[in-house]
Amino acid sequence: MQRALSVSRMTGNKSTFPDWYQAIVREADMAEVSPVRGSMIIKPWGYGVWERIQQTMDRRIKEMGVENCYFPLFIPLGFFAKEAEHVDGFAKEMAVVTHHRLKSIDGKLQPDPDAKLEEPLIVRPTSETIIGDAFSRWIKSYRDLPLKINQWANVVRWEMRTRLFLRTSEFLWQEGHTAHSTREDALASTLQALEMYREFSENVLAMPVIAGEKPENERFPGADNTFSIEAMMQDGKALQAGTSHYLGVSFARAQNIRFQSDSGEMEFCHTSSWGTSTRMIGGVIMTHGDDDGLRLPPAIAPRQIVVVPMLRGKEEDAQVLAYAQALVKDLHGQVALGEPIRALLDSRDQKSADKRWNWVRRGAPIIIELGPRDAGNGQVSFMRRDQLRDGDKVRSQALGRDEFVAHAPALLAEIQQALYDEAKARLVANIRTDLTSFDQVAEYFGAVSDDEEETAAFKGWVRAPWSRPTGAALDEIEQKLKAYKLTLRNAPADQPSSFGACIFSGAPGVEEILIGRAY
Ligand code: AMP
Repeated sequence: MQRALSVSRMTGNKSTFPDWYQAIVREADMAEVSPVRGSMIIKPWGYGVWERIQQTMDRRIKEMGVENCYFPLFIPLGFFAKEAEHVDGFAKEMAVVTHHRLKSIDGKLQPDPDAKLEEPLIVRPTSETIIGDAFSRWIKSYRDLPLKINQWANVVRWEMRTRLFLRTSEFLWQEGHTAHSTREDALASTLQALEMYREFSENVLAMPVIAGEKPENERFPGADNTFSIEAMMQDGKALQAGTSHYLGVSFARAQNIRFQSDSGEMEFCHTSSWGTSTRMIGGVIMTHGDDDGLRLPPAIAPRQIVVVPMLRGKEEDAQVLAYAQALVKDLHGQVALGEPIRALLDSRDQKSADKRWNWVRRGAPIIIELGPRDAGNGQVSFMRRDQLRDGDKVRSQALGRDEFVAHAPALLAEIQQALYDEAKARLVANIRTDLTSFDQVAEYFGAVSDDEEETAAFKGWVRAPWSRPTGAALDEIEQKLKAYKLTLRNAPADQPSSFGACIFSGAPGVEEILIGRAY
């Protein structure tokens, strides 16, 4: 049986999931490693997915009354020093620019000692500080509030263990920043962004998530509250796919972001920030990919329907090609999932079977192969990528040409839904709620040493009551979990009205928390 990918997701008991992930990234032409450690080259198909993510999310951001703008890549070191927790959190990952010129010294190009910057510049790891500085000038009175902006940009965090898309040293993202006159308003804005991320993940990426609040030890440096969406990958691990932070007044205090209230008092603003990144593409791969490659939800597929003409170097080729061109043109006139259909005629000079497998690997939702017989009968033979699972035979279906064109929007919507339903069923089926003590959790997951890969068997997550401890008690729990490579993910937004005993201490529970292994 022909397989499109060289590596399978899971083989017997030993998981090959990480190798499978790398194989997809490579063989679906998504990205490759670059000469710069930890940074990636995003190839056209991968970047096409990012552009789709940008376009569909940007619309949602604007619907929230948020405007786009752009801030500098470099941030003066002193800006960070103003917020102690924030700088502590990011110091270990900062790329620092110290010189502005090179000089040849002893035949070697080096930073010119005479061109040392008075104050080093940080390549932004996130932009609260420089945006806060602008906010302090832009905001004067309560009439200037709320102020809501977003930027699409690249950021740099010097990560030690990197993996394409999931964790890179430089990544592309959007960061929203808002300022408000009250805590309630800022918190509402924080939660509105979280809800936008949840809806986007589920409806656009077809990736079900659980939205909730992070425990204290997992908060963004300097935040009062951090909320996240967590998605379950096909190896059972969690991926934090987006975060939204209520920053209280601490950034406002550090940067003097103040407004005059309607009673004339000067007050500090309450601020929020929220971000999602190219990591989401890794999430899509690990949610929908199979042993034949990627399966892209139609909403983010750069090309939703690919037409591969079977050309044989014969006279009839012209007829097949004309038939294919007319079909693509008609498909472009159709609207699916709220936008004109993105169809492509792949007329590259290659064997049609090779081209077909190439589109299978890349995850094009619908692949059409057209031969002289189709052209003659006025029909269309197509394959749904979501239904070709793990090297199944290529099962194509046939419809009359006009029927296919009319039906294409519904087909794409069906594929979008089918991918979501499959992932949702997996998420729901793999959260254990029956474990009542830490010992049971430990036994279920099993210990793993530091240098061991922990993906041997699919485990999913545990959802259990806890007493939401803080400080040293929370540190202790974090350490206990670490021996099993487990982390606290979030306390889901939908909570029951009463709770059992805390899974860690036996004290009365106050909320339910998700526990799992994570990327
Ligand atoms: P943060 O500003 O730390 O809340 O990050 C916002 C979002 O960016 C996170 O929720 C992740 O989804 C994503 N992210 C954080 N670090 C990385 C990284 N090194 N590579 C890719 N995405 C990242």
